[in-house]
Amino acid sequence: MKIATKFIHAGAEPDPSTGAIMTPIFQTSTYVQSAPGVNKGFEYARSQNPTRKALEEAYAIIENAKHGLAFSSGVAATDTVLKLLQPGDEVIAASDMYGGTYRLFTKVYEKFGIRFIYVNMDNLDNIKAVITPKSKLIWAETPTNPLMNIVDIKGVAAIAKANNILLCVDNTFASPYLQNPMDLGADIVMHSATKYLGGHSDVVQGALMMNDDNLREQLYFIQKSCGAVPGPMDCFLVIRGIKTLHVRMQRHCENGRKIAHFLRQHPKVDKVFWCGFEDHPGYAVAKAQMRDFGGMMSFELKDKSKEATLKVLSSTHLFSLAESLGGVESLINHPATMTHASIPREERIKNGLNDGLIRLSVGIEDADDLMEDLKNAIG
Ligand SMILES: *Cc1c(COP(=O)(O)O)cnc(C)c1O
Repeated sequence: MKIATKFIHAGAEPDPSTGAIMTPIFQTSTYVQSAPGVNKGFEYARSQNPTRKALEEAYAIIENAKHGLAFSSGVAATDTVLKLLQPGDEVIAASDMYGGTYRLFTKVYEKFGIRFIYVNMDNLDNIKAVITPKSKLIWAETPTNPLMNIVDIKGVAAIAKANNILLCVDNTFASPYLQNPMDLGADIVMHSATKYLGGHSDVVQGALMMNDDNLREQLYFIQKSCGAVPGPMDCFLVIRGIKTLHVRMQRHCENGRKIAHFLRQHPKVDKVFWCGFEDHPGYAVAKAQMRDFGGMMSFELKDKSKEATLKVLSSTHLFSLAESLGGVESLINHPATMTHASIPREERIKNGLNDGLIRLSVGIEDADDLMEDLKNAIG
Protein backbone atom coordinates (compact mmCIF):
# COMPACT_ATOMS: atom_id res chain seq x y z
CA MET A 1 0.00 0.00 0.00
CA LYS A 2 1.24 3.50 -0.81
CA ILE A 3 2.06 5.93 1.99
CA ALA A 4 -0.93 8.29 1.52
CA THR A 5 -3.45 5.45 1.74
CA LYS A 6 -1.60 3.89 4.66
CA PHE A 7 -1.53 7.09 6.74
CA ILE A 8 -5.27 7.66 6.29
CA HIS A 9 -6.43 4.10 6.92
CA ALA A 10 -3.82 2.99 9.51
CA GLY A 11 -5.56 1.40 12.49
CA ALA A 12 -8.95 2.77 11.46
CA GLU A 13 -11.92 0.44 11.76
CA PRO A 14 -15.49 1.74 12.05
CA ASP A 15 -16.62 1.59 15.68
CA PRO A 16 -18.39 -1.79 16.03
CA SER A 17 -21.22 -0.44 18.21
CA THR A 18 -22.21 2.56 16.06
CA GLY A 19 -20.33 2.47 12.75
CA ALA A 20 -18.63 5.79 13.62
CA ILE A 21 -15.84 6.18 11.05
CA MET A 22 -13.53 7.89 13.56
CA THR A 23 -12.47 5.87 16.59
CA PRO A 24 -14.40 7.37 19.54
CA ILE A 25 -12.63 8.95 22.50
CA PHE A 26 -13.18 6.27 25.14
CA GLN A 27 -13.01 8.53 28.15
CA THR A 28 -13.19 5.80 30.78
CA SER A 29 -10.92 4.50 33.53
CA THR A 30 -12.36 1.00 33.81
CA TYR A 31 -14.53 -1.61 32.05
CA VAL A 32 -17.39 -3.65 33.48
CA GLN A 33 -16.80 -7.40 33.67
CA SER A 34 -19.66 -9.92 33.52
CA ALA A 35 -17.84 -12.20 35.97
CA PRO A 36 -14.36 -11.84 37.51
CA GLY A 37 -11.89 -12.03 34.58
CA VAL A 38 -14.64 -12.24 31.96
CA ASN A 39 -14.24 -9.11 29.85
CA LYS A 40 -13.83 -7.90 26.28
CA GLY A 41 -10.04 -7.58 26.50
CA PHE A 42 -10.22 -4.32 28.45
CA GLU A 43 -9.81 -4.31 32.23
CA TYR A 44 -8.36 -1.00 33.37
CA ALA A 45 -7.41 1.99 31.26
CA ARG A 46 -3.73 2.18 32.27
CA SER A 47 -3.34 -1.25 30.65
CA GLN A 48 -5.78 -0.93 27.73
CA ASN A 49 -7.96 1.69 26.10
CA PRO A 50 -9.71 1.29 22.72
CA THR A 51 -8.70 4.76 21.45
CA ARG A 52 -5.10 4.07 22.41
CA LYS A 53 -5.30 0.63 20.81
CA ALA A 54 -6.40 2.13 17.49
CA LEU A 55 -3.51 4.60 17.66
CA GLU A 56 -1.00 1.91 18.61
CA GLU A 57 -2.08 -0.11 15.57
CA ALA A 58 -1.63 3.00 13.44
CA TYR A 59 1.83 3.58 14.95
CA ALA A 60 2.90 0.08 13.91
CA ILE A 61 1.57 0.51 10.38
CA ILE A 62 3.09 3.91 9.64
CA GLU A 63 6.58 2.71 10.60
CA ASN A 64 6.29 -0.70 8.88
CA ALA A 65 6.56 -2.36 12.29
CA LYS A 66 4.61 -5.21 13.85
CA HIS A 67 3.83 -3.44 17.14
CA GLY A 68 3.26 0.11 18.38
CA LEU A 69 3.04 1.54 21.90
CA ALA A 70 1.83 5.02 22.88
CA PHE A 71 3.22 7.10 25.76
CA SER A 72 2.32 10.33 27.49
CA SER A 73 5.34 12.09 25.92
CA GLY A 74 8.36 11.45 23.75
CA VAL A 75 10.65 11.38 26.77
CA ALA A 76 8.32 8.86 28.47
CA ALA A 77 8.84 6.62 25.42
CA THR A 78 12.63 7.04 25.70
CA ASP A 79 12.44 6.41 29.45
CA THR A 80 10.65 3.12 28.74
CA VAL A 81 13.45 1.92 26.44
CA LEU A 82 16.06 2.79 29.09
CA LYS A 83 14.18 0.72 31.68
CA LEU A 84 15.11 -2.39 29.65
CA LEU A 85 18.67 -1.87 30.96
CA GLN A 86 20.50 -3.01 34.11
CA PRO A 87 23.08 -1.16 36.23
CA GLY A 88 26.47 -1.54 34.57
CA ASP A 89 25.07 -1.57 31.04
CA GLU A 90 26.48 0.85 28.51
CA VAL A 91 24.62 2.98 25.98
CA ILE A 92 26.29 4.41 22.89
CA ALA A 93 24.56 7.67 21.99
CA ALA A 94 25.04 10.44 19.45
CA SER A 95 27.03 13.44 20.67
CA ASP A 96 24.55 15.72 18.90
CA MET A 97 20.98 14.92 19.85
CA TYR A 98 17.81 16.26 21.45
CA GLY A 99 18.67 18.08 24.70
CA GLY A 100 15.89 16.39 26.69
CA THR A 101 17.23 12.95 25.79
CA TYR A 102 20.70 14.02 26.93
CA ARG A 103 19.22 15.33 30.19
CA LEU A 104 17.33 12.07 30.83
CA PHE A 105 20.51 10.06 30.20
CA THR A 106 22.88 12.17 32.28
CA LYS A 107 20.68 13.49 35.09
CA VAL A 108 18.35 10.55 35.68
CA TYR A 109 19.93 7.31 34.45
CA GLU A 110 23.62 7.81 35.21
CA LYS A 111 22.85 7.69 38.90
CA PHE A 112 21.34 4.23 38.43
CA GLY A 113 24.71 3.00 37.19
CA ILE A 114 24.08 3.10 33.46
CA ARG A 115 26.98 4.49 31.44
CA PHE A 116 26.49 6.69 28.38
CA ILE A 117 29.22 7.04 25.78
CA TYR A 118 28.71 9.87 23.30
CA VAL A 119 30.22 9.59 19.84
CA ASN A 120 29.98 11.40 16.57
CA MET A 121 27.94 8.93 14.55
CA ASP A 122 28.78 10.50 11.16
CA ASN A 123 31.67 8.07 11.17
CA LEU A 124 30.70 4.47 11.95
CA ASP A 125 34.24 3.64 13.14
CA ASN A 126 33.59 5.89 16.13
CA ILE A 127 30.82 3.51 17.22
CA LYS A 128 32.92 0.38 16.68
CA ALA A 129 35.72 1.93 18.74
CA VAL A 130 33.65 2.17 21.94
CA ILE A 131 31.82 -1.18 21.88
CA THR A 132 32.47 -3.37 24.93
CA PRO A 133 30.77 -6.54 26.20
CA LYS A 134 28.63 -4.18 28.33
CA SER A 135 27.22 -2.26 25.35
CA LYS A 136 23.48 -2.97 25.31
CA LEU A 137 21.86 -0.10 23.44
CA ILE A 138 22.73 2.28 20.61
CA TRP A 139 20.64 5.46 20.62
CA ALA A 140 20.65 7.22 17.27
CA GLU A 141 18.87 10.27 15.94
CA THR A 142 18.92 11.36 12.29
CA PRO A 143 18.79 14.05 11.04
CA THR A 144 20.23 15.32 14.31
CA ASN A 145 18.77 18.17 16.27
CA PRO A 146 19.65 20.95 15.61
CA LEU A 147 22.69 20.52 13.33
CA MET A 148 21.01 18.25 10.77
CA ASN A 149 23.85 15.72 10.68
CA ILE A 150 23.01 12.43 9.03
CA VAL A 151 23.59 8.99 10.54
CA ASP A 152 23.72 5.97 8.25
CA ILE A 153 20.99 3.85 9.87
CA LYS A 154 21.75 0.73 7.82
CA GLY A 155 25.43 0.98 8.74
CA VAL A 156 24.71 1.42 12.46
CA ALA A 157 22.17 -1.44 12.36
CA ALA A 158 24.78 -3.80 10.90
CA ILE A 159 27.19 -2.95 13.74
CA ALA A 160 24.43 -3.34 16.34
CA LYS A 161 23.37 -6.71 14.96
CA ALA A 162 26.93 -8.05 14.73
CA ASN A 163 27.50 -7.16 18.38
CA ASN A 164 24.08 -8.15 19.71
CA ILE A 165 23.23 -4.58 20.73
CA LEU A 166 19.73 -3.12 20.54
CA LEU A 167 19.37 -0.17 18.14
CA CYS A 168 16.76 2.49 18.84
CA VAL A 169 16.33 5.34 16.34
CA ASP A 170 14.60 8.58 17.32
CA ASN A 171 12.73 9.30 14.07
CA THR A 172 11.00 12.48 15.27
CA PHE A 173 12.75 14.90 12.90
CA ALA A 174 12.19 12.88 9.74
CA SER A 175 8.74 11.46 10.53
CA PRO A 176 7.65 8.18 8.90
CA TYR A 177 6.88 10.13 5.73
CA LEU A 178 10.57 10.72 5.10
CA GLN A 179 12.25 7.70 6.64
CA ASN A 180 11.46 4.26 8.09
CA PRO A 181 14.29 3.03 10.34
CA MET A 182 12.69 -0.43 10.82
CA ASP A 183 13.24 -1.07 7.09
CA LEU A 184 16.90 -0.17 7.57
CA GLY A 185 17.43 -2.60 10.46
CA ALA A 186 16.50 -0.70 13.65
CA ASP A 187 15.05 -2.76 16.52
CA ILE A 188 12.98 0.09 17.96
CA VAL A 189 11.77 3.37 16.47
CA MET A 190 10.96 6.19 18.88
CA HIS A 191 8.88 9.29 18.13
CA SER A 192 7.92 12.44 19.87
CA ALA A 193 4.39 12.43 18.40
CA THR A 194 4.14 15.95 19.80
CA LYS A 195 5.89 17.06 16.61
CA TYR A 196 5.03 15.97 13.03
CA LEU A 197 2.68 13.07 13.90
CA GLY A 198 0.32 15.27 15.93
CA GLY A 199 1.30 18.14 13.66
CA HIS A 200 -0.91 20.89 15.11
CA SER A 201 0.94 21.90 18.29
CA ASP A 202 -1.98 20.74 20.42
CA VAL A 203 -0.78 17.50 22.02
CA VAL A 204 2.23 16.00 23.84
CA GLN A 205 2.78 12.32 23.14
CA GLY A 206 5.41 9.66 22.41
CA ALA A 207 5.59 6.39 20.50
CA LEU A 208 7.66 3.23 20.22
CA MET A 209 7.48 0.81 17.31
CA MET A 210 9.11 -2.64 17.18
CA ASN A 211 8.87 -6.02 15.41
CA ASP A 212 10.09 -8.49 18.01
CA ASP A 213 7.23 -10.01 20.07
CA ASN A 214 9.38 -10.51 23.14
CA LEU A 215 10.66 -6.94 23.03
CA ARG A 216 7.06 -5.73 22.67
CA GLU A 217 6.08 -7.73 25.79
CA GLN A 218 8.93 -6.23 27.82
CA LEU A 219 8.11 -2.69 26.72
CA TYR A 220 4.37 -3.18 27.27
CA PHE A 221 5.12 -4.50 30.76
CA ILE A 222 7.06 -1.30 31.55
CA GLN A 223 4.33 0.84 29.93
CA LYS A 224 1.63 -0.57 32.21
CA SER A 225 3.85 -0.93 35.29
CA CYS A 226 5.25 2.60 35.18
CA GLY A 227 2.08 4.13 33.78
CA ALA A 228 3.25 6.87 31.42
CA VAL A 229 0.24 6.32 29.16
CA PRO A 230 -1.52 9.01 27.10
CA GLY A 231 -5.18 9.86 27.66
CA PRO A 232 -7.78 8.93 25.04
CA MET A 233 -8.34 12.53 23.89
CA ASP A 234 -4.61 12.86 23.14
CA CYS A 235 -4.69 9.55 21.26
CA PHE A 236 -7.58 10.83 19.18
CA LEU A 237 -5.65 13.98 18.28
CA VAL A 238 -2.66 11.97 17.08
CA ILE A 239 -4.88 9.58 15.08
CA ARG A 240 -6.32 12.64 13.37
CA GLY A 241 -2.89 14.17 12.85
CA ILE A 242 -1.49 11.06 11.16
CA LYS A 243 -4.25 11.18 8.53
CA THR A 244 -2.78 14.36 7.00
CA LEU A 245 0.90 13.66 7.69
CA HIS A 246 1.80 13.07 4.04
CA VAL A 247 0.06 16.22 2.81
CA ARG A 248 1.65 18.36 5.49
CA MET A 249 5.08 16.81 5.01
CA GLN A 250 4.97 17.44 1.27
CA ARG A 251 4.49 21.14 1.96
CA HIS A 252 7.05 21.17 4.82
CA CYS A 253 9.57 19.75 2.32
CA GLU A 254 8.67 22.20 -0.44
CA ASN A 255 8.84 25.20 1.87
CA GLY A 256 11.98 23.85 3.54
CA ARG A 257 13.76 23.60 0.20
CA LYS A 258 12.83 27.17 -0.76
CA ILE A 259 13.81 28.64 2.60
CA ALA A 260 17.11 26.75 2.84
CA HIS A 261 18.13 28.12 -0.58
CA PHE A 262 16.87 31.60 0.27
CA LEU A 263 18.98 31.68 3.45
CA ARG A 264 22.01 30.28 1.72
CA GLN A 265 22.13 33.08 -0.84
CA HIS A 266 21.42 35.80 1.76
CA PRO A 267 24.47 38.10 2.10
CA LYS A 268 24.15 38.30 5.92
CA VAL A 269 23.88 34.54 6.46
CA ASP A 270 27.01 32.48 7.04
CA LYS A 271 26.23 28.75 7.31
CA VAL A 272 22.94 26.96 6.64
CA PHE A 273 22.52 23.44 8.02
CA TRP A 274 20.01 21.51 5.89
CA CYS A 275 20.57 17.96 4.66
CA GLY A 276 19.13 18.62 1.18
CA PHE A 277 22.18 20.59 -0.02
CA GLU A 278 24.29 18.47 -2.34
CA ASP A 279 27.45 19.60 -0.54
CA HIS A 280 26.10 18.59 2.88
CA PRO A 281 28.49 15.88 4.18
CA GLY A 282 25.57 13.50 4.79
CA TYR A 283 23.79 14.19 1.50
CA ALA A 284 24.46 10.81 -0.15
CA VAL A 285 23.26 8.86 2.89
CA ALA A 286 20.27 11.19 3.36
CA LYS A 287 19.30 10.73 -0.27
CA ALA A 288 19.52 6.97 0.09
CA GLN A 289 17.58 6.59 3.35
CA MET A 290 15.12 9.52 3.17
CA ARG A 291 12.37 10.27 0.62
CA ASP A 292 12.95 14.04 0.84
CA PHE A 293 14.74 16.45 3.17
CA GLY A 294 12.06 18.04 5.35
CA GLY A 295 11.49 21.47 6.82
CA MET A 296 13.96 21.50 9.70
CA MET A 297 17.12 23.55 9.37
CA SER A 298 19.41 25.86 11.27
CA PHE A 299 21.68 28.73 10.33
CA GLU A 300 24.25 31.16 11.65
CA LEU A 301 24.65 34.81 10.72
CA LYS A 302 27.96 36.24 9.55
CA ASP A 303 27.69 38.69 12.45
CA LYS A 304 28.09 36.28 15.40
CA SER A 305 27.31 38.88 18.05
CA LYS A 306 24.63 38.11 20.59
CA GLU A 307 22.76 41.29 19.59
CA ALA A 308 22.53 40.32 15.93
CA THR A 309 21.30 36.81 16.75
CA LEU A 310 18.76 38.04 19.29
CA LYS A 311 17.51 40.67 16.85
CA VAL A 312 16.57 38.00 14.28
CA LEU A 313 15.01 35.79 16.96
CA SER A 314 12.78 38.58 18.20
CA SER A 315 11.93 40.26 14.88
CA THR A 316 10.04 37.58 12.97
CA HIS A 317 6.24 37.74 12.93
CA LEU A 318 5.19 34.56 11.15
CA PHE A 319 7.96 32.47 12.73
CA SER A 320 6.98 32.33 16.40
CA LEU A 321 9.79 32.15 18.93
CA ALA A 322 9.10 28.84 20.66
CA GLU A 323 10.46 25.42 21.52
CA SER A 324 9.02 22.38 19.72
CA LEU A 325 8.72 21.75 15.98
CA GLY A 326 6.73 19.92 13.35
CA GLY A 327 3.49 21.90 13.61
CA VAL A 328 1.66 23.59 10.75
CA GLU A 329 2.91 26.99 11.95
CA SER A 330 6.54 28.05 11.53
CA LEU A 331 8.73 28.33 14.62
CA ILE A 332 12.10 29.92 15.31
CA ASN A 333 14.27 28.82 18.21
CA HIS A 334 17.61 29.55 19.87
CA PRO A 335 18.98 26.08 20.75
CA ALA A 336 21.80 27.40 22.98
CA THR A 337 19.38 28.98 25.46
CA MET A 338 16.16 27.07 24.70
CA THR A 339 15.92 23.45 23.49
CA HIS A 340 19.58 22.59 24.18
CA ALA A 341 20.23 24.67 27.29
CA SER A 342 20.62 21.50 29.40
CA ILE A 343 23.81 20.56 27.51
CA PRO A 344 26.93 22.14 29.09
CA ARG A 345 28.29 24.99 26.94
CA GLU A 346 31.74 23.42 26.30
CA GLU A 347 30.09 20.14 25.28
CA ARG A 348 27.71 22.02 23.01
CA ILE A 349 30.37 24.07 21.27
CA LYS A 350 32.64 21.05 20.87
CA ASN A 351 29.81 19.46 18.89
CA GLY A 352 29.42 22.53 16.69
CA LEU A 353 26.32 23.96 18.37
CA ASN A 354 27.35 27.61 18.65
CA ASP A 355 25.71 30.42 20.61
CA GLY A 356 24.69 32.06 17.32
CA LEU A 357 22.83 29.09 15.91
CA ILE A 358 19.18 29.71 14.97
CA ARG A 359 16.87 26.75 14.32
CA LEU A 360 13.80 26.89 12.11
CA SER A 361 10.84 24.56 11.96
CA VAL A 362 9.41 25.62 8.62
CA GLY A 363 5.63 25.34 8.68
CA ILE A 364 3.14 24.98 5.85
CA GLU A 365 2.23 28.64 5.33
CA ASP A 366 2.94 30.28 1.96
CA ALA A 367 6.70 30.11 1.33
CA ASP A 368 6.85 33.66 -0.09
CA ASP A 369 5.36 35.08 3.11
CA LEU A 370 7.81 33.08 5.21
CA MET A 371 10.80 34.31 3.16
CA GLU A 372 9.56 37.89 3.42
CA ASP A 373 9.33 37.48 7.20
CA LEU A 374 12.91 36.19 7.45
CA LYS A 375 14.17 38.85 5.06
CA ASN A 376 12.72 41.62 7.23
CA ALA A 377 14.06 40.04 10.43
CA ILE A 378 17.59 39.50 9.09
CA GLY A 379 17.52 43.03 7.67
C1 LIG B 1 10.63 16.81 21.27
C2 LIG B 1 11.60 15.73 21.05
C3 LIG B 1 11.71 14.66 21.96
C4 LIG B 1 10.94 14.61 23.26
O1 LIG B 1 9.58 14.48 23.06
P1 LIG B 1 8.44 15.11 24.01
O2 LIG B 1 7.19 14.76 23.33
O3 LIG B 1 8.72 16.58 24.10
O4 LIG B 1 8.60 14.46 25.35
C5 LIG B 1 12.61 13.65 21.65
N1 LIG B 1 13.36 13.69 20.52
C6 LIG B 1 13.27 14.68 19.64
C7 LIG B 1 14.12 14.66 18.42
C8 LIG B 1 12.40 15.75 19.87
O5 LIG B 1 12.34 16.75 18.99
